[in-house]
Amino acid sequence: MSTKKSSLSKSTLIRSIQCSKSLYLYKNNYSLRDKPSTTQQQKFDRGHRVGKLAHQLFPNGKDCSPPNPFSYDESIAATKLLVQQQFPVIYEAAFKYNGIMVALDILENKNGKWYAHEVKSSFRITNTYLLDAAIQYYIITKSGVQLEDFSIVTIDNEYVFNGTLEISSYFKITSVLTEIQERIPFVEKTIEEAIATLSAKQMPEIAIGAHCTKPYPCDFQSYCWANIPKDAIWYLPGISMQEKSNFVEKGISTIHQIDNMEELNARQKVIIKSFQTKQAHIVKEKLNAFTEGIHHPLYYFDIEAFQPAVPIFLNTKPYDRIPFLYSLHYKESENSELQHISYISPVGNDDRINFIEHFLNATQKEGKILVFNTLMEKGILFKMMNDFPQYKKQILERINRIIDVEIPFKELYYYHPAQQGSFSLKAIGNALLGFDEFSKSAVKDGEEAMAVYNELFYWENKDEVNAKLQHLKTYCQTDTFVLYEIFERLKILV
Ligand code: SF4
Repeated sequence: MSTKKSSLSKSTLIRSIQCSKSLYLYKNNYSLRDKPSTTQQQKFDRGHRVGKLAHQLFPNGKDCSPPNPFSYDESIAATKLLVQQQFPVIYEAAFKYNGIMVALDILENKNGKWYAHEVKSSFRITNTYLLDAAIQYYIITKSGVQLEDFSIVTIDNEYVFNGTLEISSYFKITSVLTEIQERIPFVEKTIEEAIATLSAKQMPEIAIGAHCTKPYPCDFQSYCWANIPKDAIWYLPGISMQEKSNFVEKGISTIHQIDNMEELNARQKVIIKSFQTKQAHIVKEKLNAFTEGIHHPLYYFDIEAFQPAVPIFLNTKPYDRIPFLYSLHYKESENSELQHISYISPVGNDDRINFIEHFLNATQKEGKILVFNTLMEKGILFKMMNDFPQYKKQILERINRIIDVEIPFKELYYYHPAQQGSFSLKAIGNALLGFDEFSKSAVKDGEEAMAVYNELFYWENKDEVNAKLQHLKTYCQTDTFVLYEIFERLKILV
C-alpha cells in the first residue's frame, strides 16, 4: 500500500542530496523501503543512547521528544514555550520553517544567548555531519532563534575507561559554525530542489549508480535494483561504483561485454574471465605450495568481538574490540574425528580473563591454528597480550601457530565463478561446498553477531538472552566448520 508522507526534515533533505528519487519514493511509496538490518538498527539505537548520555554534559534540561513520530507538532510547541521562557537547557528541541522540521539534541541558553549542540556517536566530524548541522542551523535561525554558536559533540577516541565514566572526557565538543556558514547556500539550493521533487507529479528518472551506496546505503535498493540482471556490470566486484558508471557510460552494461581488460587489475581480470567462461581459476603449484606444509593436528579457529561505543570494561577505549565468543574445531589426524569446543562470555561482566584462559587451555596441544583472515583474531590476541601481560608468552606462542586460509583466495590461487566476486568465507564456502551451511544460522555474519551481542546488554528477559547466545554460538561454530571444509576441499583440488 502506498503511503504519502508530507513535509521535509533534516534526514529527508540529506536523502534528497544523495538521490532525489529516494526522496520521492520515501514520501510517496514509503512501503517499498527496505527494513533496516539488525546492524543498522543497532547503530540507530546506539546513536540514541549516546545522545541521551550527552545530556549529562548539559544537565537539568527539559526533554521535548515527541511521544511518537507523528506528534512533532507537540514538540515544536513545547520547544517554543521553553525558548520564550529562556529555559537553560532543552533536549530534542524541535523547530519548523517553510514546512521543514528539524530536531536538535541539545539547545543551551547562557546569559540570554543560544548555543546548539548536536551529538554524534563517532570519532570524526564528516562532511555529512556538517551538512546535517547546516540544515539544523538554517531552520533554527530562520524560525526565529538566533544561535551564538553551533557545536558537534563527538566521542574522544583517546578516552580510557578507569572504572567510572567521566562524561566530560568521554565527549569532545567542537564548534563548527564557520563550516556551517560556508554550507548555507548549498542548503538553500537543496531545499529548493527537494520542494520541486515533492511537487512533481512523476518520480524523477534516476538510474542506479554510485549514489545508491554513498554516503549511505539507500533503503530503496530492493526496489530499484530488482530487475538488474546478475551479469550487470553493477555487480562486478573489486572496482568502485564510479568505475562501473564509467563502463555503463561507454555502453558496457554487462560483464560479458567486457573485452578490453587492459586497465583492470589482476583480481578483476580473474573474476571477469571466470564469470565469462564459467570455469574456476586454479594455480595448482601455488595452491600445492600453500597446503603441503600444513599437517595434522590442526585447529580451525574463529573469534567474535563486540565494540561498545561507551567503554564498560577497565582500561578499554570507546569502540575497542572485546572478544566474547570463540569456536574451535580440532582434528588430531587425518582419520580422527572432528572435535568441537567453544566459549561464550556471559553478558554483563568483564570476562576477558576467563575467555583467554579457556582459549589457551583448548589450544594447549600442538598444531597449527587455521583462521580465515587473521586480522581480527591476531589483532584481538595482541591486544589481550598487552592488556593481560601475565599470558603474554602463551598468547604469543598461539599467534605464531596461526595460518591464514584466506591467502590462497586473496592471492588468486583459486577462484570459483560461484563466489560472484566475493572473497568472504561464506561465499567461498558456498562455491566450494555447493550449499550454504550458513542458511541454518539465525545470525548472518560477524557484523550482525557483534550487533546482536552488543544489544544483549540492554535486554532484561534472561530466556531471550540465552536463546540469542545460542544463536551466536551456532553461527560461530558454522564458521569454523565451513573453514574446516574449505581447507579439506583445497587439499583435494591439489
Ligand atoms: S536505489 Fe539508487 S536510484 Fe534507487 S532511490 Fe536509492 S539511490 Fe536512488
